[in-house]
Amino acid sequence: MNARFRNWLGITTILFTVLTIQACAPKSQEDCGFVQNVYGERVSWQSDVPVNMYIHSSVPVEMDAAIIAAADSWQTIVGRKIINIMGRTNESVSPHKDGKNIIYFMTSWEANRTSEQGRTSLYWIGDLIKEADIRLNGADFSFYYRNQSNVISTAAKPKSNSAAVNIEALVLHEMGHVLGLKHKDTDDSVMATFLASGEDRVNVAPTDEKALQCEY
Ligand SMILES: [Zn+2]
Repeated sequence: MNARFRNWLGITTILFTVLTIQACAPKSQEDCGFVQNVYGERVSWQSDVPVNMYIHSSVPVEMDAAIIAAADSWQTIVGRKIINIMGRTNESVSPHKDGKNIIYFMTSWEANRTSEQGRTSLYWIGDLIKEADIRLNGADFSFYYRNQSNVISTAAKPKSNSAAVNIEALVLHEMGHVLGLKHKDTDDSVMATFLASGEDRVNVAPTDEKALQCEY
């Protein structure tokens, strides 16, 4: 009798433990256009906005207007300031986790990734983004602002037959990553994987606006 009773208690305890663990585990969510963590939760800044972003001194000053225009586009869509451009910072040109969100202009780029125009690194804890850094590939690409004849930076190692890239369109895309968005190759999303040279994709699409509403 006693032995049976103990056995029953043991089983109850194990069941209880399993149920408790399930209740505490993060719930997987629909991606809604966002990057997800290992538990399937969307990662974003949640209420931790606006994101304060600095422009590294390596970025040509002619790009400031394009960067501010891109931040303004996201702000217009969300209806409040979501990326705040803080001005310039001049640390070493080595993007790393330092607690500061920085846009860098790189004059050297990995030789096996020369087709990449830019890259955003996100650092998150749980489902909360803590830092984001943008790298612009100034080694392999030339950039223009507003008008293709207005080239504001020339590639350090120009590719043959490669026209300049719209810097505002590129920064708009990378800022989408900063906010937590992943690539989307449909519905005219600004988060499409590829940006053709000379393509003026500077308007946030309705699909991107809808995605942001899931988190902001
Ligand atoms: Zn991208």
